[in-house]
Amino acid sequence: MSHVVLATAGGVVLALADTINANRAWLSEIDGAIGDGDHGINMSKGFSLAAAALGKADGGLSAAFQTLGDTLLSGIGGSMGPLYGSFFLDLAATLGTAATLDAPLLSRGLHAGLASLEDLGSAKLGDKTLLDTLIPALTALDAAIAAGADFATALDAMSAAAEAGRDSTKDLVAKIGRAARLGERSRGVLDAGAASCCLILQTLAEALKQRLA
Ligand SMILES: [Mg+2]
Repeated sequence: MSHVVLATAGGVVLALADTINANRAWLSEIDGAIGDGDHGINMSKGFSLAAAALGKADGGLSAAFQTLGDTLLSGIGGSMGPLYGSFFLDLAATLGTAATLDAPLLSRGLHAGLASLEDLGSAKLGDKTLLDTLIPALTALDAAIAAGADFATALDAMSAAAEAGRDSTKDLVAKIGRAARLGERSRGVLDAGAASCCLILQTLAEALKQRLA
């Protein structure tokens, strides 16, 4: 129960697309509170295009993440396309030609994705962005690995921390992007990117757990 065979795990990206599509209206509703209300529509479009490109074939996960990254980079508008696109491309590049995925390799891949987000934007922890989901989730994943947890337990820890991180954005004031112009009025609602990042990490965790060998 310690690794996932990457060659047959491309369906993980189809699971991500299903989750984003199922939450399309919710994500746009959250974005509409302090943004322009298009996050669900944009994300659903990008993930659907990637799922269509992948088809039903259960190919490799590295290639599937690359397809998803390429599609998000080129296929969706707004600021989130380049951010999530680069995130998944760097995750794909880290997995590379590895045969199996274990918790340390997942951590390296997600850290590479985080580094690309930090390169592209100026957001920091506490600025009410997707980083408020991703950074604590990665911290929890790394702590579980350091404590000797098995992969499933480490994924559960990542998932729980992602949710707590998402919820932390409700009390934060936006420092980045359109919502930052609202100042104090941005307090009291979730950040849409933090919400979609939580959906992505929790679905990733569940889909990987289903494929543990
Ligand atoms: Mg928007």
